Amino acid sequence: SLHGSRGLCMAMERTYIMAKPDAVQRGLVSDIIGRFEKKGYKLVALKLVKPARSLLEEHYDSLKDKAFFPSLMDYMTSGPVVAMVWEGKNVVATGRTMLGATNPLESAPGTIRGDFSIEVGRNICHGSDSVENAEREIKLWFGEGTIDWSSHSQGWIYE
Ligand code: UDP
Repeated sequence: SLHGSRGLCMAMERTYIMAKPDAVQRGLVSDIIGRFEKKGYKLVALKLVKPARSLLEEHYDSLKDKAFFPSLMDYMTSGPVVAMVWEGKNVVATGRTMLGATNPLESAPGTIRGDFSIEVGRNICHGSDSVENAEREIKLWFGEGTIDWSSHSQGWIYE
């Protein structure tokens, strides 16, 4: 029902989204936030962070043996990032679709990376690639937890 709470009963996913240092430097933070806000997802955590190398090493632990890992660490520790958690139905997979392919050469126009970036080592944003990784990344970046609030838009976004 329009004003009912069916939406509240749905199993809502959460994902970790991050505007990388180049997005902060280039003034693209509002574009990234705006895509998720306008889509209808709910913001449940947000902060500007200058991450320690150790935090990024843990975040990107699965990539530590890759040749690009040192340059990835230099890139990601070069300045502040905007860390956020977005909540909604299927937000992990849909969030990845909204970001576009990892390599902007392959990201479709209309996606965040497709519209605002050119190279894989400057691809402006991060999004969790699975529900399991999302929960791991949210714990890692938001040890303080996320914010529980009810959105007045709920009934206009979910049927
Ligand atoms: N990356 C890179 N070179 C590569 C592959 C990845 O510099 O050949 C960087 C890029 O910034 C990417 C990040 O490492 O976003 C993490 O890579 P992953 O494969 O996890 O892609 P993502 O999940 O970010 O799309």
